[in-house]
Amino acid sequence: MNYTKEQIIQIVKENNVKFIRLQFTDILGNLKNVAITASQLEKALDNKCMFDGSSIEGFVRIEESDMYLRPDLDTFVIFPWRPQDGKVARFICDVYTPDGKPFEGCPRYALKKVLKEAADLGYSFNVGPECEFFLFVTDEKGKPTTITQDDAGYFDLAPIDLGENARRDICLTLENMGFEIEASHHEVARGQHEIDFKYADALKAADNINTFKMVVKIVAQKHGLHATFMPKPIAGINGSGMHTNMSLFKDGKNAFYDEKDALQLSQTAYNYIGGLIKNMRSMAAVTNPLVNSYKRLVPGYEAPVNIAWSCHNRSPLIRIPAARGASTRVELRSPDPSSNPYLVLAACLAAGLDGVKNKIKPPKPVEQNVFKMTKEEKAKAGVGDLPSELNEALTELQNSALMKNTLGEHIFENYLEAKREEWFEYITKVHQWELDEYLSVY
Ligand code: ADP
Ligand code: GLU
Ligand code: MG
Ligand code: MG
Repeated sequence: MNYTKEQIIQIVKENNVKFIRLQFTDILGNLKNVAITASQLEKALDNKCMFDGSSIEGFVRIEESDMYLRPDLDTFVIFPWRPQDGKVARFICDVYTPDGKPFEGCPRYALKKVLKEAADLGYSFNVGPECEFFLFVTDEKGKPTTITQDDAGYFDLAPIDLGENARRDICLTLENMGFEIEASHHEVARGQHEIDFKYADALKAADNINTFKMVVKIVAQKHGLHATFMPKPIAGINGSGMHTNMSLFKDGKNAFYDEKDALQLSQTAYNYIGGLIKNMRSMAAVTNPLVNSYKRLVPGYEAPVNIAWSCHNRSPLIRIPAARGASTRVELRSPDPSSNPYLVLAACLAAGLDGVKNKIKPPKPVEQNVFKMTKEEKAKAGVGDLPSELNEALTELQNSALMKNTLGEHIFENYLEAKREEWFEYITKVHQWELDEYLSVY
């Protein structure tokens, strides 16, 4: 919705909204918020709400901690699950510095900068994500376990699918908040689900992804379940992806569609794919940010491992779904839902635009199952590999001038630092697997 300040003041009054959450996202993608009472609304709408940024991951040092939250009026929504007497609403905010400049560490700003670059070339950027997640049973203390609530599989229905009620509740809550839900279903793995909502311009899509994750977790909790967007919670079964469907529009038309081409794809679409493929390895630390993300990107679980594209099969990294006309789109299958959606979409768009601006030609599409290709066949077809672990991905990111420029120096440096620390934590621990394998043998 597009609201004016006056309309929001009116809605808050008429609906007896008592609290307003000012939300923003840290560089790792975690949603943060501060609640104000309705009496402070006008102050917030005048961009005068301040917070201490020094305790937020990757934001600022303690000496320069004052930050301002500027509510984006279009993101105003009342939470349907909070008490109806004394309601709670929220805004998603942009973070600003005390001297009135957009804060370089705000992921929303990083995305806005690339969107501006696309707009200067005449493009708008549309994104439709497919977020997968698991529902796990909680223990007697309410802590999550990795016990799934059902043993159902792809597209199963009740009574095998026990997530049906939670899923229904999630969909209805999201609809209540203005989402257009396109489909929801049980996914391949036991306890795994997917809910798809309609594509939107990228800024809204990124806001939607974070709102979606929040709603899924809250509603699951009401059903006594723990929802997780961890990419690979259980070894040996499918992990959770966030396939990212993308298209560029120009003059109100889908710029990826060309009815005269053999595949009905435009030069812009080919170049966009070329740009994604060229920059894929350097984006991986953004699209797949956790140590755990790389345990999803292994053969055999419908997640990509190889850098290739195809119109007909789902094994490569990039798939072009069959729909044409306004629905012509590029589906990137590597991102997982633990990623920061603002940074993922900024990285994808920057990579695609690199292809469009520099007329990068993609390799030929691969129409066979890439998992079954030999090393020689892959080399001949120009099929590379995604990084196999976080450390490799971080090195690729560090060496990318395009990603540094896209994320902005502040996010780039702080992100790398936080992730290197995560990697160090991981490799300096002795894991259960090592004990199982080595303790008695050596
Ligand atoms: P899949 O074929 O992988 O199962 P889905 O049908 O589950 O894909 O999801 C498709 C997603 O693509 C939805 O979010 C949908 O709104 C989105 N989508 C449709 N058209 C476009 C477009 N032109 N640009 C970007 N996303 C689009
Ligand atoms: N769960 C798979 C993944 O990790 C995707 C399954 C699907 O194609 O929907 O990407
Ligand atoms: Mg899926
Ligand atoms: Mg998909």
